[in-house]
Amino acid sequence: MVVLRTPEEMKIWRSQIEGTVGFVPTMGALHTGHETLIQASKEQCQHTILSIFVNPLQFNNSSDFLNYPKTMDQDLRIAESRGVDAVFIPEKNQMYRSEDPVILSERELSEKMEGKYRPGHFNGVLTVVLKLFNLAKPTKAYFGKKDYQQYLLIQKLCEDLFLNIDVVGIETVRDEKGLALSSRNLRLNSKEIEIAQNINVVLKAVKSSAEATQQLENLGFKVDYVEDHWGRRFVAAFLGEVRLIDNVRL
Ligand code: AMP
Repeated sequence: MVVLRTPEEMKIWRSQIEGTVGFVPTMGALHTGHETLIQASKEQCQHTILSIFVNPLQFNNSSDFLNYPKTMDQDLRIAESRGVDAVFIPEKNQMYRSEDPVILSERELSEKMEGKYRPGHFNGVLTVVLKLFNLAKPTKAYFGKKDYQQYLLIQKLCEDLFLNIDVVGIETVRDEKGLALSSRNLRLNSKEIEIAQNINVVLKAVKSSAEATQQLENLGFKVDYVEDHWGRRFVAAFLGEVRLIDNVRL
């Protein structure tokens, strides 16, 4: 497995690759959810690129950014064992080279739910994903449906900007009790994990989003939103300092 640290290294490596390329963008602290994306790429493409970059532009909350879990040595071991061909791990100043960078924006999907509660979040996501796409030049790109709003936006990015990339959505991977795997779960203690395991149960059990909000608040969550869209129910809620999101099909 090759480890690439700069856009130049990525471009040179990519220029030497022929055949189909699957791309899995992540922020690291890899878990089985990420591994499922890698697996899909391995099955569908001849080469797989994984990126690990905690993108400052998509964090509206500096403590969330600073406390984002980092497990780079373990991530590299997982990537290697999963058969990733190249890992791209740039520093911030490699990805953002001007003081006032070009930033993509979108308003139809970006201003509800995650976008409403994390202003600027999706502009940051769109910007970094386009940069990564331009470097990785993937045939297919893999995104988790845990971040369903993000998945829709990346599809729209590819359609609107005529990117010739097939965006593949992967079902949410959960623990044995149904808690969606997330890097942020590493910040929960065992009691909080038990509480968080109720999220998907509540989302599915109740009739309305208002009822779900009430039940989650009774369990100790501070709810940003529960909303129903596209035949799904979405939630974002804090458990202590940690903000969790999930969605289920209705
Ligand atoms: P992240 O590192 O959290 O930015 O996630 C990188 C990619 O992995 C995104 O496309 C996520 O939607 C996806 N992902 C994260 N958690 C899961 C999960 N539990 N199941 C499936 N995909 C996931």
